[in-house]
This record gives sequence, structure tokens and C-alpha cells, in this order.
Amino acid sequence: MSSIAFVSVFKRYGEVDAVKQLDLTCDAGEMLALLGPSGCGKSTTLKMAAGIEAVSSGEIYFGDRPVSRLAPGERNIAMVFEDYALYPNMTVWENVAFPLKVRGITGQPASERIGEVLQLLGLRQMADSPVRGLSGGAMQRVSIGRALVRDPEVILFDEPLSHLDADQKVQLRAEIKRLQKLRQVTSILVTHDQTEAIAMADRVAVMNHGVLQQVGAPQELYERPANLFVANFIGEPPMNLMKAAFTGGGQVAGAGWAATLEAARLPVLDVGNGAIVAGIRPENIAVQAPDIAGEGRGTIVYREPRGDADVLTVALEGPAGAADRIIAEVPGPSPWRAGDRVSLGIDVGKLLIFDAT
Ligand code: ADP
Repeated sequence: MSSIAFVSVFKRYGEVDAVKQLDLTCDAGEMLALLGPSGCGKSTTLKMAAGIEAVSSGEIYFGDRPVSRLAPGERNIAMVFEDYALYPNMTVWENVAFPLKVRGITGQPASERIGEVLQLLGLRQMADSPVRGLSGGAMQRVSIGRALVRDPEVILFDEPLSHLDADQKVQLRAEIKRLQKLRQVTSILVTHDQTEAIAMADRVAVMNHGVLQQVGAPQELYERPANLFVANFIGEPPMNLMKAAFTGGGQVAGAGWAATLEAARLPVLDVGNGAIVAGIRPENIAVQAPDIAGEGRGTIVYREPRGDADVLTVALEGPAGAADRIIAEVPGPSPWRAGDRVSLGIDVGKLLIFDAT
């Protein structure tokens, strides 16, 4: 088992800096997710680990072994792709056997390993079926089996669940996580889906425009986002963000709900007179009867029931001209309906302040 370390890695495609100054480590036995919007450099990072793309500068280590100059076949990695990349006319067994066969492992030693992996993945009954015609979920299981069968040092997952329907996604997420932990195989998962990253990974690395923004456990990214990009990207419904500024007398100047906050109750920050953005998660806003004192008042414009929670969009009665909305998530089913006038209690201790620049 090896760690994977990117040390000062850059990747340029002509004029495009796809990955900039990446310093990131995936610990031995860890599942690390690379998460970010399309074009942020996740796949390029994975391809550099695989050896499919060369680094422009910097070094990648598996344990203490530099691998940047090694061909993919010399790196002892396995990949699981979005589109499965199986041999459709071969059976499940033959597909899983393939990586062993090309390494000259056949007969009893191969059969034992293939049998064990098929058992682990619940594919024993399908061993003799051709891959063509299997469900997407079963096909992805086969490609995971193919990755596991030769005990690679590292498994790289490239959007492995993108083509699956919702049920299969949930099942395979849990399955991949279970197998990864069971085998303790160092893994990198590329995904644009935060739910997937949070459900499967030990730690999540958020990227934007080729730059690593933050790496941490899912809870850490959620509770202490390092910057506005991460704050905005992680969480559903998203964090409420509002421009504001600390002015000379320790007052807060801002529009909408930020204007209703009392400076005295805000976390003390050394931002001088700088522009800030105040952020609050929807679940840290209490919705209460309009005669109860709070940080603001408004009228509910939408109520979205989500089973155990209701997501309420509230149009605020801000200072004249400020037509701001804030999203609150309250335990559901709640008594609140569109059109209700309410008071909002903002848990100031949970307020996050970001540098707006
Ligand atoms: P992601 O996987 O996060 O969607 P990519 O790593 O695929 O992002 O791409 C990062 C950036 O590099 C994008 O701007 C993309 O257009 C560019 N890029 C990726 N592959 C190539 C390539 N082979 N040639 C030129 N530009 C590329």
C-alpha cells in the first residue's frame, strides 16, 4: 500500500494551465475525492497519476518512488472508468480474468483470485454471462472486479457512477466504499458530484480553475470552508452569502439580512474596513412567529418539502429597496406555508465571514 503525493505539479496544454502548483497527498489506504466543476482540472490530475498524461513540471510519488517518468504499465495502478471499458463479447469471468492473463497468471492461482473477487462483488451467478446486456450497475461491478483482481497499489476512479440511475448509484457508492476499506487500497475518485464525494471519500480535495482550493474531511469543508468558492460549492441547499463591510465604528454595513446583523454579536475579525461576505447555512436559521424578536423579518415565498426537512425561501423586509432572499432549512414537516410572515433567528455563532476580495 502506497501513498500518492503530487509535489508542485503543473500541467499545461499550450496556453491552458490545466493544473497549477498542485501539492496534494492521498494517504496510504485512503479514498481521496477530487471534486470541482467541469474543466477545473480533476481528470488531468487523475491522468497524470495514471501516466496517461505527462506532468509539465513537478513530481508524483507512489510512496517514496517517483513515478512521473514511468509508463502506465509500470505504475501498478488500476483504473475504473465512467463507461466501464469492458470487452462486451467476453463473459464476466473472462473480463475479470483479463488483467491476470496479460501478466501470465492463469490456472488455479488465477481461478482462486477471480472467484474471490466475483464473490465479493456478488457476481458469482453471472460469471458465465456475456457482459453485453448486463445493467450499468452490474457492468461497473465487473470493472471494479477487474481493478481489484490483481491487487494494484492504487485504484483511480474516473466518474465511476455518472451513467448509473439513482438506485444503482446509491448501492454502488456503498459497495465501492466497503471494498476500498476492506482491501485498504489507496484510491483517488474524480467526481463533479458533491454527494458522491462526501458519501465515499475519507477526504475531499476541492479544485477550481486548476487550483486546489481546500482539502479536508467532508465535515471540515462543510463547517469551515477556506474561501467563498468552497462555501458556495459545498452544501445543498447552498449557503446564504451576502456582501457586507465592517465600517469604522465596529458597525456592519450591508444590504438585506447582513444589514440586520448586529456588529457587536459578530465574530471579531481583523478585517479593518474591508469588504466581507457573511455566510450562514440554511439549517442555522430558525423560522419563528413574526412577533418573536430575531435578526430579520420576511415573508415565505416558497416552501419545498423534503420529507424530514422543509426548505423555505424567505423574502426579507430589509432596508428600503433591498429585495433580498434567504433560504432556511427547518425540521419537517413544518407548519410554515408560502405567504406566511415570519421572524428569522440567525445563529450568529455559526456565521462565517469571508474576505470578499
Ligand atoms: P475536469 O476533469 O475537471 O472537467 P479537465 O482536467 O478535463 O477538467 O480539464 C482542465 C482544463 O484543461 C480545461 O480547461 C480543459 O479544456 C483543458 N484540457 C483538458 N485536456 C486537454 C487536452 N488534451 N488538450 C487541451 N486542453 C485540455
